[in-house]
Amino acid sequence: MSGNNDSNFGPGTRITGAGRRAEWTGTPGHPGAVVSPAVWRASTHLYPDMAALRDHPANEDGKFYYGRRGSPTQWALADALTALEPGAAGTVLYPSGVAAIAGVLLTVLRPGDVLLMSDNAYEPSRIMGRGLLHDFGVETRWFDPTSPDSLRAALCPQARAVLIESPGSLTMEVSDVPGLVAIAKAHGLVTVIDNTWASPLGFAALSHGVDITVMSLTKHVGGHSDVMMGSASAGADWYRKLRLRAQGLGTVVSPDDAALMLRGLRTMDLRLQRCAASALALAQWLAVQPGVAHVLCPMLPGAPGHDVWRRDFTGGCGLFSFILRGGSSLARDRLIDALNLFGIGYSWGGFESLATPVDPHDIRTASVWPPASWNAADQFGVRLSVGLEDANDLITDLDHALSVWRQAAEAKP
Ligand SMILES: *Cc1c(COP(=O)(O)O)cnc(C)c1O
Repeated sequence: MSGNNDSNFGPGTRITGAGRRAEWTGTPGHPGAVVSPAVWRASTHLYPDMAALRDHPANEDGKFYYGRRGSPTQWALADALTALEPGAAGTVLYPSGVAAIAGVLLTVLRPGDVLLMSDNAYEPSRIMGRGLLHDFGVETRWFDPTSPDSLRAALCPQARAVLIESPGSLTMEVSDVPGLVAIAKAHGLVTVIDNTWASPLGFAALSHGVDITVMSLTKHVGGHSDVMMGSASAGADWYRKLRLRAQGLGTVVSPDDAALMLRGLRTMDLRLQRCAASALALAQWLAVQPGVAHVLCPMLPGAPGHDVWRRDFTGGCGLFSFILRGGSSLARDRLIDALNLFGIGYSWGGFESLATPVDPHDIRTASVWPPASWNAADQFGVRLSVGLEDANDLITDLDHALSVWRQAAEAKP
């Protein structure tokens, strides 16, 4: 098995076969063959004799060497992710999404370089710019994710790489990735995207010219809120460099976690379709509620970024935000507390729905948030990660919570 990796197959077919090499699962039709690679837990891999140790294929992909280089369980996951990413030659696994971003940036950047980061980037990425990268002699400058001109304006001779996140995982702006890539290429910059929102099923990053695509596997691939991991996929040249740097940093993921990720991956296409459809139903419902000022859902016709999303993406997911009309931070707390079917907690992409407050205005650098065209009173946002519950039940829950919010927003302290 692994014959379903043919790119002519649909995503459901490819995701079913990805990473299932016969040498890792046994040969179908022969006794002992299994569907999923076993959890191959090892630090030491034994060589049959000295001759084999002497001429072991030092550290090549898919060859036994030492536990830090993984075993078939981790290799099968990396292989599967590579198969799903058109244009990728390989995938490096990291213990978390943040570790993947750090691992990639520490491969791409050198002291004296400037990193150009999208202003909607995930907060730990921003903190990395100001902290880790700064400490290692790299300066970070921010650009407006919706404006290629803003990237152009941030260019400087020391610029080395661009980090894009699209849609931004809080504010949901969709970047013109081909436009940003064209500017980056014209100036010899490396492009990196945090593609956690769409996954390769929704946005084929490398096909759109990006050099390195990163995902927090914790979200959609895991899908069950019980395991953390990150990945970076790239063409041959960057893959080799990423792999060597990860090896030098001692980055390794456990085979048990890799097995959980592989299990989650098999249903990812199905879950994404269901979560995206429910999220769109909720977004459509929210858009006509009097208490809601803005719905930030790229999949929603008329919402910010929808046109670019429709042009470049092949799918969505359950994550979007909405902005309340007026009110207060306290009233928003009442709303979130009143939700029964949405857990309160960080992360997203699990089978269960979650809600968190969104307050990005204090962390912006290169763009104004809320946008100048909005009524200034409309600033309290809620981010929903829509799970696998029935959309009608989630809407009933939101309806109730909005009525609680209305009372809290109208009560004058
Ligand atoms: C959660 C997240 C990450 C970090 O992933 P972890 O696995 O939690 O470290 C990176 N980027 C985005 C967009 C995320 O939402």
